[in-house]
Amino acid sequence: MSSTPVPPDHITDSPLFADLGLRAELLAALAALGYEEPTPIQREAIPPLLAGQDLLGQAATGTGKTAAFALPLLNRMPAHRSDGDPLALVLVPTRELAVQVSEAFHRYGKDLGTRVLPIYGGQPIGRQLRALDMGVDVVVATPGRALDHIARGTLRLGNLNTVVLDEADEMLDMGFAEDIEAILEHTPEQRQTVLFSATMPARIDGMARAHLTDPVRILIAREQPVAGEAPRVRQSAYLVARAHKPAALGRVLDVESPTAAIVFCRSREEVDRLTETMNGRGYRAEALHGGMSQEQRDRVMGRLRSGTADLLVATDVAARGLDVEQLSHVVNYDVPSAPESYVHRIGRVGRAGREGVAITLAEPREHRMLKTIERVTGQRITIDKIPTVADLRTRRLELTQAALRESLLEDDLDSFRVIVETLSDEFDLMEVALAAVKLAHEATLPGTEEAEEEIPQVAVRPSRETRPAYEARGERRPSRPRTSGTTQVFIGLGRRAGVRPQDLVGAITGETRIRGRDIGSIEIADRFSLVEVPIAVADEVIAGLRGSTIKGRKVTVRRDRDDSH
Ligand code: AMP
Repeated sequence: MSSTPVPPDHITDSPLFADLGLRAELLAALAALGYEEPTPIQREAIPPLLAGQDLLGQAATGTGKTAAFALPLLNRMPAHRSDGDPLALVLVPTRELAVQVSEAFHRYGKDLGTRVLPIYGGQPIGRQLRALDMGVDVVVATPGRALDHIARGTLRLGNLNTVVLDEADEMLDMGFAEDIEAILEHTPEQRQTVLFSATMPARIDGMARAHLTDPVRILIAREQPVAGEAPRVRQSAYLVARAHKPAALGRVLDVESPTAAIVFCRSREEVDRLTETMNGRGYRAEALHGGMSQEQRDRVMGRLRSGTADLLVATDVAARGLDVEQLSHVVNYDVPSAPESYVHRIGRVGRAGREGVAITLAEPREHRMLKTIERVTGQRITIDKIPTVADLRTRRLELTQAALRESLLEDDLDSFRVIVETLSDEFDLMEVALAAVKLAHEATLPGTEEAEEEIPQVAVRPSRETRPAYEARGERRPSRPRTSGTTQVFIGLGRRAGVRPQDLVGAITGETRIRGRDIGSIEIADRFSLVEVPIAVADEVIAGLRGSTIKGRKVTVRRDRDDSH
């Protein structure tokens, strides 16, 4: 242990939110959320966006890109407008993202009174009409539904100052290119245009050239090696849904049984929440974040040093400059917002020939960021399966066995001889040993095993290269063998009715919980279409489509005939 942390403003020369020129209400909201400092994309994007410039940003989920465009947008909103037409439009590929982005706007802009409205297919249109009618400042929409409202005259874009195209590559993959073009035609020429995309294929470049004026370009996932070599530590990642993250962290740590570990979180709020959860799980966890006084931090570090605590839950800012000798594990509770931050974090273990382990919990959507980190560091991050309850049980038995062996080798056990001798008059020695092992096992690892539940394994989101055929938009695809676990849904409307793949994807994602990426190949014949969907959700798709219209028409929907044989 070489040093204790010093307050963040003394050790960071990177700008704080306050240095970026954001107004007080936004700074207060960020402080309340426990954000300690801007992420790299926020640092680079916020100043030019505040100045009204166009921007082309390459950033994946997990980099903090939503706040990077939402904060400047909110900052530039005039307070208490009387006019009702929106000043900003954010286009997103899916309904989940529409909801997520609107929630982010609400969180950041709650003290500004900004009116934000998500609009997406599947939600009753009446509610959207009423909300639009009452006046809004920011609309967050999926392209299909936005176009519907434009056609009805209920979404008027003549006052727009800013248009954001979020996850633009994803929108193109879903066949929204034409819709986006059509929407942009309804916006004023003198608007600010912001485009974020995780990848920069030629089509995105073309789109940027057509619609952005002299944009600032930001590439956050720099593909050059980062300064200082990443340490050689065992690096693994677990893919886990957000809701299961606390349980997954507990399970992984139980199996890894670290000597001492540091768990990195994004915000103070998360640090506090997770510290409590881990204490509930029997760890001696301590929180460390920038909101604590120097005295409090010193106390925490003292407890870690003396072994009174075994888990430190910290933000990046608070843990800067910290060198803990006994640290065996670094855990990223979220994928870090930039590869540099990853390298910096895992540099805390594996120093001076010591062994170290780096573990990252990632949501499936953040898988791309892991790949970027691998490329930048030139090191592999193995994706492991979250240990099952059986794995945990096996591991705990191993630990008990190791503890017993150590005791047999090291301890003077003579004072217990009398117990074993007395009991052996009555019982077999093996039985005596079994009872002793049971007690030892339960004493070291309080019996929480019964309460353990399996944590669902989630699959890696398919990469762009392996995504299903509906991406080849507008073209009729030859029939091909179906992927296992899927079925085809027959829809009695085809090319003659002007049906396009995006109409079908839009109708399905609008009416059900299914996401565009779950939909497989789409075949459009003259009079009907066939859409491949996972068997598990086929009935939901059929029910959803039967209750709605496609191209304004009620249509026949059923499972395709060849399912019956
Ligand atoms: P995004 O990449 O926009 O999906 O954001 C990823 C997550 O990071 C979201 O849960 C945000 O709430 C969180 N986040 C964004 N910016 C910051 C920040 N500066 N500090 C802490 N958390 C952040």
